[in-house]
Order: sequence, then C-alpha cells, then structure tokens
Amino acid sequence: MKIVIIGGVAGGASTAARLRRLDENATIIMFERGEHVSFANCGIPYYCSDVISDREKLLVSTPKMFEELMNIEARTFSEVISINKDKKIVTIKDLKTNIEYEETYDKLVLSPGAFPVKPPIEGINDERIFTVRNLNDADKIKNYIKSNNSKLAVVIGAGFIGVEMAENLKHFGLDVSIVELSEQVMTPVDTEIASYIHNHLREHGINLYLGDGVKRFKSEGNLIVELNSNKEIQTDLVIFAIGVRPEVKLAKDAGLEIGQTGGIKVNEYMTTSDDEIYAVGDAVESTDAVMNNSALIPLAGPANRQGRICADNIAGIKHTYKGTLGSSIIKIFDLTIASTGNNEKSLKRNGINYKKVYIHGLSHASYYPKALPMMLKVLFSETDGKILGAQAVGYEGVDKRIDVISTAIKFNATINDLTELELTYAPPFNSAKDLVNLAGMAGQNVLADIYKPFYIEELASLSSGSLIIDVRSEMERTLGFIDDSRHIPLEEIRTKLNEIPKDKQIILYCSKGFKSYMAQRILQQNGYDNVYSLSGGYLLYREIKKDKNPPLIEAKSAENLPANDNTPVTVSLQIDACGMQCPGPIMKISSAIKNLQENETIEIKVTDQGFKSDIVSWCKSTGNNLIKVNSEAGIISAIVQKKTVNNKENELMHSKDSKTLVVFSQDLDKALASFIIANGAAATGKKVTMFFTFWGLNVLRRPEAVKTQKGLIDRMFGLMMPRGTENLTLSKMNMMGLGSIMMRWVMKNKNVQTLQELIEQAKQNGVELIACQMSLDVMGLKQEELIDGVTIGGVANYIEKAENSDVNLFI
Ligand code: FAD
Repeated sequence: MKIVIIGGVAGGASTAARLRRLDENATIIMFERGEHVSFANCGIPYYCSDVISDREKLLVSTPKMFEELMNIEARTFSEVISINKDKKIVTIKDLKTNIEYEETYDKLVLSPGAFPVKPPIEGINDERIFTVRNLNDADKIKNYIKSNNSKLAVVIGAGFIGVEMAENLKHFGLDVSIVELSEQVMTPVDTEIASYIHNHLREHGINLYLGDGVKRFKSEGNLIVELNSNKEIQTDLVIFAIGVRPEVKLAKDAGLEIGQTGGIKVNEYMTTSDDEIYAVGDAVESTDAVMNNSALIPLAGPANRQGRICADNIAGIKHTYKGTLGSSIIKIFDLTIASTGNNEKSLKRNGINYKKVYIHGLSHASYYPKALPMMLKVLFSETDGKILGAQAVGYEGVDKRIDVISTAIKFNATINDLTELELTYAPPFNSAKDLVNLAGMAGQNVLADIYKPFYIEELASLSSGSLIIDVRSEMERTLGFIDDSRHIPLEEIRTKLNEIPKDKQIILYCSKGFKSYMAQRILQQNGYDNVYSLSGGYLLYREIKKDKNPPLIEAKSAENLPANDNTPVTVSLQIDACGMQCPGPIMKISSAIKNLQENETIEIKVTDQGFKSDIVSWCKSTGNNLIKVNSEAGIISAIVQKKTVNNKENELMHSKDSKTLVVFSQDLDKALASFIIANGAAATGKKVTMFFTFWGLNVLRRPEAVKTQKGLIDRMFGLMMPRGTENLTLSKMNMMGLGSIMMRWVMKNKNVQTLQELIEQAKQNGVELIACQMSLDVMGLKQEELIDGVTIGGVANYIEKAENSDVNLFI
C-alpha cells in the first residue's frame, strides 16, 4: 500500500510514524512545503525570546531520522498543488527547482494545518508586521528585533499565540502592547477568569487595548497602529495573531466536502467525503465533545490523536475519534490558566441551563512551604449535574486540576462524581480534600439546594431591597469591602439575627465563599429562605474590580514599590506567610517585627497577591522602611527594615504641610472656589490633594459622550447628571441657568479663569485629583468618562493624604 501524506508536522508526522509501526511494508511519503518536518511549533514563542535558545531543540525529528528510523520518505520544500481523486494522483511542486511532478497513492492523508488570518487592512503588508506559524517566521522576528534594536512591539490579537508572543517579547526586553477586539484576552476562559490575566499582564508592564480593533497601519518613520477608537500606537514591529483558518484550498479544489465551520469535513474515522482520503489536525472540522456540534479547535493534542486514529483506520484497525474538549493551558509570566470543555459564553449560546461553583484554594497543604493560591471554576448541568466545563487560574498545579476534570468530562462524570475521586495526597502535593473534590462538594450542595450561590455579575442588578452582609473579620474588612455592605462577622451572626431582616433578600460574602456559606446555613436554619452566598467571594470581586478600574489604589501603590533588584541584603529574621490570606501576612509581620532591634531587617514570603500593595501601606503608616519587594513564580518576598518612629519623627514624617480638599458638590461656584484654593496652595509649594466624591465627580466629567458598557439605571443616571464644566450650575441664584450664564460672562469680562482653565492649571501645578472609587460605582460612572489625569482611589487613599495635611476642607 502506498500512502501519501500532505503536511509533515503534528498530524502528518503522527500519522506517518504510527502507520509505519502498523505496516512495515507500506510505502509512506510525506510532503512538507516548509523547510522542516515534525518541528515543535508550540515552542516558537519561547524561541523568539531565547527562553529556548537552541533552535535545534525545536526540531523534534528530521527527514534523515524519518528515513533511517522509520523508512519514511519526508520530502521538504515540496508543496502538493493539486489532488486528482479520481485518478488517485497528487501533483507536487519542488519549491527549490520549481519542477512539478506527480505521485500516485492508495490512501491520501491531509494534514495541512491552519494559516494565520491576515485581513485586508490598510498597510498590513508592511514588512514590520509579522505572523507566527513556523520556525522561519520566528527567525525573521528575532533577526528583525536584533538588527534593528527594536524597543516597541504591538501584538494584535490576544489568543494563545498572541499572549505567549507578548510575554516573550517582554522577556526579550521590548515594551509590549496588546490590542484585542474583544473585551477580554484568551476567549476560551470566561470574563472573570480573564480579569486575573488582565491584571497580571498589566502588572508585568504589558499595555492592554481591549475592545478595540485595528483600523489601519501607517508608516511614518515608525510604524503606527491606528485603532478603531482613533488611538494611535507607535511601534517598531507588530505581531499579527488574530487567529487561524484551516488550510482547505487543496481539499476544496479537489472537490472534498467542507464543513459549515470552514474545516474539511471528516467522519469519526477521519475519512473525508472521499473514502480513500483522510484528513486530520487544524484543517478539519471536529466535534465539540460536550455540545456534540461542529467546531474548529486548532490544538496540538487533537492533531496528534487524530493522526494516530487515522493511521489505525488505514491499517485496518477500526478506531474512532470521539470529539474534542478543547483542553488547553497557557503560562503567562508567573500565572497559569487552563480550561476544558465549554465556557459560559458557549453554554449560553447553546441555550444550556447550567450552574457554576468557584473554589479558592492552594496548590498544596497550606502548612507545607510554597503553597500558592489557585481558583477553580466548574460548570455543570442544572438538570443532571453533568460536568460541562472547567477553568482554573493559579501558579502551580492548575494543569493537574483541569486534567482531572477533563478526564471526568470524557467519561461523562457528574459534579457529584467529583466528590468521590480519590486523588493522590501528601502535604507537598495536595490537601486531603483536593480542589476538585471541593468543587464537587460545592456543586452537590448547589444541586441539593443546601448552598445557594449568588454570582458577582448579579450584584449589578440587585434590587434596592436586598441586603449585602460581609461576614469577614474586622481586619479583613479594613483592607476593602463591597460598597453598601453591612459588616457582621460570622462569629456574631447567631447573636445578631435580630439585626437581619427576614423579609429581604440577603447576600452574604466573605473572602473565598466558605464562611459566607456557613453563615448562609445558619440563617437558613433560622428560618431565612431568601439568603445567598456570594460565589467566588471578595477575592474574585476584588480581581474583577481591579481589572475594570486598572489604576486602583493597589495598582498605584504597587507603582511605588521599590524596584525588583537582586542586591543582597542581610536579613535578621525570615518569616513564611505563604498560604495565608489577607490580613494574615500583615498581622504576622506586625507581630514578628516587635522582636527585632532598630535597623534590623525582616524578610517575609507571601502568596496572597494583594500583599504587594498592603505592605506599602503598612510600612507607610508604621514608619518601617520597605527595602525591597520581589515577586517570582507567585511568591512575593518583601524585606522591611525596622524603624521605630518616635513622636518627633512621627511629626516630621507626617509633616502636616499638605492640603486636602474633599469636593462633594457639583455646583459651579463651589467647584471654582475649590480649584482657586487648590491652585493657590499649590503655588506656595504645598502638596494638594483634591478628593472628588458623589456629585463632585461631575466636575471631572468629560464634556463629550463616552461609549461605555452600562446597565439601564447607570445609563439613565449618567444622562441626568451634568457632563463637563460648561454644564455645571450655580448653587444659588441659578435662575434656570441664567445665573450661571451671567456668572461666566462676568468672569470673562473680569479676566477670571474658567473652571476648565483652573482644572488644567491645577494639573500643571501637580495637584492630585482623586476620584472616589465607591462614588464612581454608586453614580454609575466609569473612569473613561472622567477627564485625563484623574486617579481612582478609595477612602484609605484620602485618609492617608488627610493625615499629612494641616488643612482639610469639605466643599
Ligand atoms: P501543522 O502542525 O501546522 O502542520 C501543517 C504543515 O502542513 C505545515 O508545516 C505546512 O507547511 C504543511 N502544508 C500545508 N499545506 C501543504 C501543502 N499543500 N503541501 C505540503 N505541505 C503543506 N497547540 C497546543 O495545543 N498547545 C500549544 O502550546 C500550542 N502552541 C502553538 C504555538 C504556535 C506559535 C503555533 C503556530 C501553534 C501552536 N499550537 C499549540 C497549535 C498546534 O501547533 C497545532 O494545533 C498543530 O500543529 C496542528 O497540527 P497540523 O498537523 O494540523 O498542522
């Protein structure tokens, strides 16, 4: 039997190798258009940054190895240009000599893969715009960066390849921006999981342009990427990675059937519409193993498995391909994100009723060193508990959890089955109840109506009659809470039942969702039937919020962190707070530092990611000296030098020379007064902070309408409030706007600056404008609706400034 294979990488090479093992007498010829066969295209992004520096390592096999080990002829630089399925002949073009010739076959296998999409955008053919498919592409990118000493890169498209390329270009020393048309990166995961990725990418200095596409590329010396929003990004090079399309031209021209998704149609034996022709890999339309519908899922695992099954069937062993779950994983700097099965978006699209649970846990037992945080989300059918999909984000052990669940889905397991899985356990590897078991238990409780989850996205449409109760400790609450929530720690719930109304919907929350579940059970068993527990808890809420409002206080404080450096520091005491959640690490350092002498240093290792900003605030408020903070592989280590602040120093530290203004009002006259005072103080060299809250936020609104995603109430609220300084009115004698017009006229005649000019002057004078995060939420305003140069902050930020001020005005 003579078997011809088109494409010599993942699917093609797998088919060829398996075939040889099954049939020693077959003639096997593999045609590959490119220079290499069986190369590791998945390693290309890492080769671009020299993380994998040895190019040879990516060449898993060579034509010589195919020949010597397997008696397979692998012809490179050989493009199959047509198939005559009636005569069972393919025509090949030798790309080195341009000579065309024919080859007969008994069985033909197509594994031509998928090509990077490049739509006809103006300027897309600029030589500084690259796509990534094979080693030659990687060589071109690397050479270009090296020979042009490139500093700036823009990656268009934030799928696996785009994000991996962004990370690696950053490693390579470039300043990287990602442009993504969708509102999130990595569409295999849902939006809240993407929030973790967004925050992590930003923390690593990647600029994100989400919900924005490329309008055109302009070449003005530098390459300029013009976005649909009219923003322009200057760059030295572009990686264009918006997705791939199956290579089907050859199949189409030969008259083979193409599926509705655009991939080559195959049956479960990997046979195309022609019985003698098989197809595998990225070029074929496969079946979504959960939904049982057609899908394009271009991944290496499925391509390899299909290759083996295809070979089996050619050799007469009947094996079927049972669909693709889309299990995938990616490393993004320190973070690992993995998913399997369907996500919420596809379940909604397919009209499937589902439930979900979120479990926060650690990679292994908290008391064993280097336990790192992880969050697992599992989706399951509301009707029969069948597991539909899962996603996880963390630093270690993410692959294991998703692989276990992927296996469970493969064997049609239900969420109940997860409770019974016996998984390996010893402290360095796991906990006695693995996260997967815990997800099963939570899901089982959901189905039994023992646990009533409330989801974070539902908070936006919460009725005013509902009550949100924070059941965390006092210390946890001081580091952030959900606006408008009441605080009743879990320990006090039983004694405070009289403060919790039975006729209202009650939403309980804690950090991870477990304490709130306990509180929910207490209330339910005390006659409350409209009570829910916030699934994912404050930790997930905080992550989403940080993503939606990137320059939060935490982020801003993080900017002030001492730079990562490796200069050795003599450490007097080391403490390990890994595995502890906030406020545990702060409490631990606060008590440990008491045992040190003045100027001695303490090093703390923490896995709670919020610690990066918490330690900055703690050192500021205690006077201790933060020497350095490093973050590696999910472990934050901070070195603090003990400094006892005596009263005199304390006075100096808080030299109370600054001025703080709280602007609560949106009245024109009051706004004018506050900016005049602020500018006056700034002119005398004082540090001035203006904290805008509630109606005062309208002073900072942009005059033009800004497109944002808002609920109905927020939109209506936004329409009713003034936009831009020109629309503010006087507090007195406004006379339906006449007073304001007269005031502006008088100001103009008397050469008094307009409010707009005063604001600009304040910014130039270094006055810090802070918009209150909580008020923004309450008023339904988004950061992008505010003028440039405004920081988003919370009360803690204001208090910190106010403590250093000798004047604190409320206007
Ligand atoms: P390919 O491996 O692409 O092989 C197709 C080959 O066919 C090509 O070399 C092409 O030159 C050749 N060819 C096409 N037409 C002809 C013709 N007419 N004549 C002769 N030869 C032809 N997947 C994962 O699961 N995990 C990852 O981490 C991952 N990372 C990736 C990173 C990069 C940069 C890329 C590009 C892909 C990555 N993938 C990853 C996807 C994975 O590589 C593909 O799913 C897999 O290689 C598909 O195998 P295939 O055989 O269908 O196609």
